[in-house]
Amino acid sequence: MAKKLGMTIDLKRCMGCHTCALGCKMQNNVPMGMLWNRILTDGGEDVDTARGEFPHLHKSWMPLACLHCENAPCVKVCPVGATYRDEDGRVLINYDRCIGCRYCMAACPYNVRVFNWQNPVREPGHSYGEAPARPKGVMEKCTLCVERTSKGQEPRCVEVCPAKARKFGDLNDPNSDVSQAIRERGGQQLLAEKGTKPQIYYLR
Ligand code: SF4
Ligand code: SF4
Ligand code: SF4
Repeated sequence: MAKKLGMTIDLKRCMGCHTCALGCKMQNNVPMGMLWNRILTDGGEDVDTARGEFPHLHKSWMPLACLHCENAPCVKVCPVGATYRDEDGRVLINYDRCIGCRYCMAACPYNVRVFNWQNPVREPGHSYGEAPARPKGVMEKCTLCVERTSKGQEPRCVEVCPAKARKFGDLNDPNSDVSQAIRERGGQQLLAEKGTKPQIYYLR
């Protein structure tokens, strides 16, 4: 059976440390001013502030990147077939095909696609991660670290999370860590009513 790669993110464990966001940026050489993986704050009106009044304060975090939707609207609207779902269920972008029209950005209900306005930078002697350089004028987003996961490694965000809040695996395998976690904890798909069928599940 084909794989359906996915992830669980345990919001009870996530402490908003941003390590996964930085690990992602380094792994994928995400340009200045752009993030493929962001940590949203559920709390006050400003980032990293609490909601409520002392001593009844509340703050929690929600990491958000591409959810690798099984029924992805970004794939459907791309006029040149640059955005596609691969055989293991990752939603990817062919940078050579992308014409930068940004239809996919408008179609994604999760606001996780970022447009690259910059020419790639490659200083000699600096490590730029494993992901290929993207030309100016193409769309980018999380690839589930395809360069790593196609070799059997975990995505970088899973590997570096100090709270072990993230698990990665095959949703089609009932014995995988992710399938078991979803069964035991009742994984939540973001905006499930949209019918996009995200493959990243949140555990609350
Ligand atoms: S590294 Fe782990 S704990 Fe830190 S923000 Fe990311 S998911 Fe949360
Ligand atoms: S989260 Fe957005 S960019 Fe990712 S697959 Fe779903 S619709 Fe496409
Ligand atoms: S920006 Fe690129 S990937 Fe997105 S819809 Fe246009 S051609 Fe497709």
